Amino acid sequence: MPRIVVIGSANADLVLDIDHRPGAGETVLGSDVVVTAGGKGANQAVAAGRLGGDVAFVGCVGDDGYGELLRRSLADAGVDVTHLRTVPGASGNAIILLTPDGENSIIVSPSANRRVTVELLEESRAAWAGAAVVVLQLEIPLATVAHAATTAHAAGARVILNAAPAAALPPEVLAAADALVVNESEAAFLLGGVPAQAAEPGGAAATAVALLDLGPRSVVLTLGADGAVLAARGAEPGHVPARKVTAVDTTGAGDAFVGALAVELADGRDLRAAVELATDVAGVAVGRRGAQAAYPAREEVR
Ligand code: ADP
Repeated sequence: MPRIVVIGSANADLVLDIDHRPGAGETVLGSDVVVTAGGKGANQAVAAGRLGGDVAFVGCVGDDGYGELLRRSLADAGVDVTHLRTVPGASGNAIILLTPDGENSIIVSPSANRRVTVELLEESRAAWAGAAVVVLQLEIPLATVAHAATTAHAAGARVILNAAPAAALPPEVLAAADALVVNESEAAFLLGGVPAQAAEPGGAAATAVALLDLGPRSVVLTLGADGAVLAARGAEPGHVPARKVTAVDTTGAGDAFVGALAVELADGRDLRAAVELATDVAGVAVGRRGAQAAYPAREEVR
């Protein structure tokens, strides 16, 4: 049994450079479309695999051409794809618009990711229920995430719950998490719209502590160029600064972070050490174009 199992989405990213985002009724010209492998779940699995983690991916792709691209990208990173299903119809897609400031706007079309159901998980239960670390995000049906989180937690796995994209989660799902990983806007969503106040280090730490009250055993709040804060029960919150890098493309930075965190926690590192490596890995990723294509091997990380 692989020690890390990522259960989640795989999307073919259709990436376009544009000068500015179109407004309502506006048409803009873009660059050629570049198709790359993405999706939060697959990205996290690839990031973990590239760092040498023993990782398997559970998810669904379509029987269109994109499905094979997604499968190959996972397998090339050393990810076990035995439980990646190919289902009839379209693979998940993300249309990613990149502007010259390095920001992105993303539209996700879930397609095959909707087929990652509780029933499908139960069919492959042996593949994930006894893993050391189970990694989840919210681009598959929430009922599936809830089932996986509570089942894996009850079986003694460490559940890394990346609550992205933001969605309301039942208390038992948050209570199954160790760690809960969110960025500032996801944190604000979970806390009912309270801003994370990242500019103020104490503000971000307070936000992480407030998230702990929702039930997870630990919280990692990512702060973009400001790194991340971590909080755990019975300990002072800590801040880990980010690498100083010129951001070329921040797509999938958070996923690189989560994949690295999973590898370090599975290897028995404490949360702070795991967050330090994760910020380094994500820092390398933002300095390069693409999501999975940008993720470093262990030798490329400090
Ligand atoms: P998301 O990509 O999920 O929105 P963040 O923007 O918080 O999440 O980024 C995740 C992590 O990626 C950060 O904690 C940091 O380690 C790294 N990162 C993101 N942007 C930058 C940046 N401009 N410079 C250095 N590191 C960055």
